[in-house]
Amino acid sequence: MSGRIPQDFIDDLVQRADIVEVVGSRVPLTKAGREYKARCPFHSEKTPSFWVSPQKGFYHCFGCGAHGTALGFLMEFERLDFPVAVEELARSVGVEVPHTDSDRPSTEPLLAMLEKAANIYRQALRDHPAAVDYLKARGLDGETAREFGIGYAPAGWDTLLANLGTTEAARQSLLAAGLVIARDTGGFYDRFRDRIMFPIRDTRGRVIAFGGRIIASGEPKYLNSPETPLFHKGRELYGLYEARRAERKLERILVVEGYMDVVMLAAHGIHNAVGTLGTATTGEHLRRLFGVAGEIVFCFDGDRAGRDAAWRALQTSLPLLQDGRQIRFLLLPDNEDPDSLVRREGAKAFAERIGSSVPLSQFMLDSLSRDLDLDNLADKARLTALAKPLLAQLPEGVYRELLTGELARCVGLPRDRLAELMTGGGTQAQGQGQAQSQPQSRPREQKPLLPGMRPPTDRNAAADRRGSLSRQAISLLLHYPDVVGQIPLPDSLRSAGLRGVDLLCELHDLARSRSGVGTAALLERFRGRNELPHLAQLLTEEQLIGAEDAGTEFGHCLERLVVAAAQQELAALLHEAGQRTLSSEELTRLAELQRTVAASHGMARQRPDS
Ligand SMILES: [Zn+2]
Repeated sequence: MSGRIPQDFIDDLVQRADIVEVVGSRVPLTKAGREYKARCPFHSEKTPSFWVSPQKGFYHCFGCGAHGTALGFLMEFERLDFPVAVEELARSVGVEVPHTDSDRPSTEPLLAMLEKAANIYRQALRDHPAAVDYLKARGLDGETAREFGIGYAPAGWDTLLANLGTTEAARQSLLAAGLVIARDTGGFYDRFRDRIMFPIRDTRGRVIAFGGRIIASGEPKYLNSPETPLFHKGRELYGLYEARRAERKLERILVVEGYMDVVMLAAHGIHNAVGTLGTATTGEHLRRLFGVAGEIVFCFDGDRAGRDAAWRALQTSLPLLQDGRQIRFLLLPDNEDPDSLVRREGAKAFAERIGSSVPLSQFMLDSLSRDLDLDNLADKARLTALAKPLLAQLPEGVYRELLTGELARCVGLPRDRLAELMTGGGTQAQGQGQAQSQPQSRPREQKPLLPGMRPPTDRNAAADRRGSLSRQAISLLLHYPDVVGQIPLPDSLRSAGLRGVDLLCELHDLARSRSGVGTAALLERFRGRNELPHLAQLLTEEQLIGAEDAGTEFGHCLERLVVAAAQQELAALLHEAGQRTLSSEELTRLAELQRTVAASHGMARQRPDS
C-alpha cells in the first residue's frame, strides 16, 4: 500500500460505515432506545457503560472515556494503524481504497528532519564543553548520554535553519516537525536554543520530538516540541523505548515527571522509568504501560501539587485496574525528585523506596481519611460514602473485592454490612471530600448530562457565558452539520478572538466545504488533535434542540456571539480611550460598536429567555 488516501474518500467511508455493524460484529450490543449499549471492550465491567449511536456514527464509554467513530473503533479494538483500518472498513462497506501517489503528506520528511536535528544536537554537545560540564556536574556519564541520544542546542537563532533549512520545502518540514517557529514578519527561527536536548522516540526508536532543558537560568525551564502529526503528548512517554530496549521483560514501570529523572535513574542502573511530558497521566498512557508491564509505580513529589497529581493519576487508573494489574504510589520527601534522590542516596536506597511504595488501595484510603477521625461513627460513614463512587469505577474482580475488604477493616464493619451500605444510599458525601475533585470519567450509572442542566461553576459563571455560547453553537454544528453548515458565519466573528470561536469557524468551514458531510466525518478530521476529546464530550451530551429548530437556534447563538465580540472590542477600545486619544477611525468604530451593543439590549428585552 502506498500513497495518500484522499480525504473525501475517508469522509464518505466514515459516513457510509454502519457503526452498529462494525462494533456489533465484535462486541454484543443491546438496543436501548435510539442507541445501543454493551459492556465496554476497553475496560472490564459488569454493567454496560459503552454506548453506540447510529445517528452520530459515534461510540462512547462513560466508564473509561473511550470514544470515536467506526474507524477509530477498528483502530482501537483491532489495534490497527490508520491506513490498515481504512482498508478494513472499506472492505466491510465493499469499496476499494483509492490512493493518490502525488502530493503525499507523508511524515517521512518530518522524521528525516528530526533525525538530522538529533545528529546536529549530538555533535553540538561534543563541540560545547560548557554543556558537557553541565551534564557531568549533574552526574551524567557518557554511556547514558549516548543511550538516550542526548544533545545540545546552541544559543544561536538559526543552528538548524542554517544547516537544514536550505530550501523552502526543508523549512516547511522543519516547521511541521516543530523544530522552528515562523516569525510574524516572515521567515523562521530555531525553537530550541541553549538547551540540553532529549530526543523523544516512538516505539520503533525513531525521533518524533524533543524535550529541552535550559542550561542557564531562564524560562521556561523545560520546553517540549509542540503537538505535530508525529507527536501527541497525551500518548507519548519519555524513555519507554529505551526502557524496553534495556530490559526485554519489564515487570514494573516507574512513572516520573522529568527527563532528567528518567536519565539519571538509568545512569544508576534503574532502567525501567518513563516520564510523562509535562501533562497529567492519561488513560492512553496507562493502557500503553499496562501493555508492557503489569505494575506501575507513580513517583511524585510529596508536596501539594504532587499529591494532587497522584490523586488524578489514581482516578484515571481505576477503570483500568483489571486483575493482574497493580498500581503503587511513591511520594518523595520534600524538595526531592528521583534525580536528586538517586544521586544522594544511590540506587540501592532508591530501589528500597520503590519496594516500600504504597499500593493504590492504601493510598486511596489514606487520602480519603486524612481529615477524618475513624474512631468517630459519622466519619466512618463519611469515608464509606467517599470511597463508594471510586470503588464503583473499579472493574469487578479480585482487586475490587480486596479494596472493599480493606475499607471494611478501616471502618470496623463486617464486610456484608459494608456491602449493604454500599449498595444502599449514602452518596450524599460525594464531592465534599478534600481530595474528591471531579473524577475524569463519570461514574457509570450516570446518564449524559444535559447541557441546560449543567450546574453553573460558581466562580466564573459569567465569564463562561461566551464560552457556553460557542459551545452550544459547536454542539449544534456537530449534531446537525448538514442543516447548520449552510448558515453563513458573520465575518465579524472570525477576527473576534472569542473563546471557542476559532474552533467553531474551522468546523463550519469543514461542514460547508462538502455537502452531506456528517458528524462522524467531522470528528475524523480532528483525529490526533487536542480538540477531539472536547468534541467527543459534546456528542455524549444530549442535544435538546431538534433538527427542525437547529438552524434557528444556531442563528441565535451567532447573534449573541456577535454581540459578545462587539462588547469585548468595545471594552478594549474604551480602555484605550482612557490611555490615549483615539483616532477618528477608532471613534467611528466605537460608535458602531455602541450601537450594536445597545441594539442587543433591546433584543434581550424582547426575548427575556436569552
Ligand atoms: Zn470503557
